[in-house]
Amino acid sequence: MSGDLKVIGRAGLAPFTSLKVGGVAECLAEAFTTEGLKRALCNGATLLGKGSNVLCGDVDGIVVLNRTSEVSVEGNTVLAESGVGLIALSRFAASRNLGGLEWACGIPGSLGGAAKMNASAFGGSFADKLTALYIFEDGREVRVPKSEIKFAYRKGCDKPVLRAEFVLNYRPREESERIMRELTARRFAAQPKGHSLGSVFKNPSGFGLKSAGYYIEKCGFGGKEYKGLSVSEKHANFILNTGGAKPKDFLTLVEIIRSAVFGEFGIKLENEFESIGDIL
Ligand SMILES: Cc1cc2nc3c(=O)[nH]c(=O)nc-3n(C[C@H](O)[C@H](O)[C@H](O)COP(=O)(O)OP(=O)(O)OC[C@H]3O[C@@H](n4cnc5c(N)ncnc54)[C@H](O)[C@@H]3O)c2cc1C
Repeated sequence: MSGDLKVIGRAGLAPFTSLKVGGVAECLAEAFTTEGLKRALCNGATLLGKGSNVLCGDVDGIVVLNRTSEVSVEGNTVLAESGVGLIALSRFAASRNLGGLEWACGIPGSLGGAAKMNASAFGGSFADKLTALYIFEDGREVRVPKSEIKFAYRKGCDKPVLRAEFVLNYRPREESERIMRELTARRFAAQPKGHSLGSVFKNPSGFGLKSAGYYIEKCGFGGKEYKGLSVSEKHANFILNTGGAKPKDFLTLVEIIRSAVFGEFGIKLENEFESIGDIL
């Protein structure tokens, strides 16, 4: 144990996810610095950011919570550790009259999770203003320019991310704040409150296809309950934990929905969330 890396020991993972459902980690640790994160990764740790897009089962070995938080600014270049939250970074950038991250103001993930998922919202995406990622490869930190990373819809970097570098544009603070207020209002109008992983399924791609939520709604799932879970009436692509659900129950409900949508519309919905560990 050191100031960089704190070992907690065997622990439940539910509190560290936005769904508040999860299995048990054989060894949970917290990394407060990039050095600590590297040490955990050298020991084969599985990374957890803010847990807002991951269903956790039982995990053998180490799970490391990424608590890194350093941000530095030089001109309009921002370099941030991967544990920094998207919400915090978009607000911080705005406070420095730097724009381009406003789209991220309501996404409860870390930069590392966003790099993996290529998080996006309201026409903006993680890759837009990114210039490079610092990843952990072969035991060392390597700077990888954006051009070498193949970003696609909900697909980003598949290596452990230590830092992200952005070049932002100058924008008066008040303008960024106005944009963020508008986007927050749109998010509140469209999405339910409560414990969730955000959108459960990716939107299907193809000419004339609608959102995943549209098909789930049409199959009559809006408001349906299943073992401590509830499909949101407001946004049918959100499953809320209403209490007592297990990781397996979440997966079962996901399969019930997937198979109903396939049966009705012939569309095979793909998971948007990630899973770690054994979900039994
Ligand atoms: C209410 C709500 C609203 C949401 N809205 C949106 C939205 O509008 N748009 C959107 O895109 N997403 C949205 N999400 C999903 C989620 O917030 C994003 O995908 C976010 O980027 C995940 O970041 P995280 O830190 O929570 O990742 P986690 O859930 O902790 O991890 C997700 C995956 O990334 C991996 N990972 C974590 N950290 C790193 C790292 N440093 N390096 C490499 N891999 C890593 C994990 O191992 C896991 O596989 C929403 C979620 C919620 C709960």
